[in-house]
Amino acid sequence: MKLTFLGGAQTVTGSKTLFEYGKTRILVDCGLFQGLKELRLRNWDALPIDASAIDAVVLTHAHLDHSGYLPVLNARGFRGKIYCSAPTRELSRLILLDSAKLSEEDADFANREGYSKHRPALPIYDRKAVQEVMERFHAVPSGKWISIGPEVKIRLSPSGHILGSTFVEIEAGGKRVVFSGDVGRKHPTLYDSPVRLERADTVVVEATYGDRNHLEESASIDRRLIEAVRETHSRGGHVLIPAFSVGRVQEILYRLSTLKRRRELPEIPVYLDSPMGIEATRIFTEFPAWHRLEREEVDRLCKTAIAVKSRSESIRIMREDAPAIVIAGSGMLAGGRILHHLAARIGDPRSTVLLVGYQAAGTRGRLLQDGASEVKMHGRYFPVRARIATIPGLSAHGDQSDLLDFVRGFETPPKRIFLNHGEPQALDALRVKIKDTLGQDAVIPHLGERFDLSPFPEVVAARGVSHWPDL
Ligand SMILES: [Zn+2]
Repeated sequence: MKLTFLGGAQTVTGSKTLFEYGKTRILVDCGLFQGLKELRLRNWDALPIDASAIDAVVLTHAHLDHSGYLPVLNARGFRGKIYCSAPTRELSRLILLDSAKLSEEDADFANREGYSKHRPALPIYDRKAVQEVMERFHAVPSGKWISIGPEVKIRLSPSGHILGSTFVEIEAGGKRVVFSGDVGRKHPTLYDSPVRLERADTVVVEATYGDRNHLEESASIDRRLIEAVRETHSRGGHVLIPAFSVGRVQEILYRLSTLKRRRELPEIPVYLDSPMGIEATRIFTEFPAWHRLEREEVDRLCKTAIAVKSRSESIRIMREDAPAIVIAGSGMLAGGRILHHLAARIGDPRSTVLLVGYQAAGTRGRLLQDGASEVKMHGRYFPVRARIATIPGLSAHGDQSDLLDFVRGFETPPKRIFLNHGEPQALDALRVKIKDTLGQDAVIPHLGERFDLSPFPEVVAARGVSHWPDL
């Protein structure tokens, strides 16, 4: 039994871990590298393994950093099934099509402007490639063991991170390896708490927030939301909420719908100006077994916002003077419809830009959060006169204590622990915490590192194979 870390090693994107047992090869997650150019270039590298030699892919959830490389894998010869939950299949389609569209637009732009070294510049994949890979998706129920090879079976169980997100267990030859994917918070707003699993011989756990604990309570998030809306409404301005379509949009709508019902918000229209956010919300409503809202809460959530599909309608709202709340993508103000709203309101001291998600370094969202006095959009500089407010603590990720709970939540504790999907500082903080509280050594694998999990590693010793110390 072997594990090879092909992505998400000492970074938070590109998650891909190869599991091998006998002749069976399973790739757990197949994510795209994102962020800095050096990382993004890795998406164009050859995989160290022949794609056609992979028997199956198992997805923990639909986020692009876990699913976004699938069309490339398919184009390079992968012919197996992609196992995941039913919501993950639907959300993956949405996310991959959006990723393809953005990549096609980037390539078109580069070709028009002639700045790419490659002629012609090509998208990493197009929408046709996404349609093709979707044929390989195979949705399986959660909580049931599914046989996928000789002596190899898998089980998916809800992890509380986003709609359809799951832990992945692989059992082979009597041993069990558990992949956390992204671990949700102990009490997610929209989902059930992550399930507890009985047993793991080896566990691969994420460490996105391995170095911090969320301090914000749900009630204080609501208080900040009320405050921002009331103040902006009283000044006659707009509240712009840049939000990720999958997950964050539904959480914001749910909170707004609850606050409206309790009459804690003034009468103010809410626009969901995001075709992708509208679609993600529709998918959310189709899987009642995968979230914890009652039917009437879902109805209320859907009625809270006016869905804005067309671009012309979006432009009309942008020009409206009466106070309104506008939720649109992208979540870090990198592109999308939020930009024309921002261009219209950023110079208006009555309006508020409400940041409700993580703002990565270098994005417009981060610049505003850091107090920039002007912001560049569509080639022009706009002075910042609107209020910039942040609601911290809204995260779909478990914090350090949630991650620790996951590791120690097994009835039979794991003998080996690997930490992935985190920045070096977060990984190391979690490693130290695990050592201090559980007395166990966790390993932080490097990109491409391969580990032998068999009890007698010396038998299969080979160059390039790392061994677990003293087992
Ligand atoms: Zn995720």
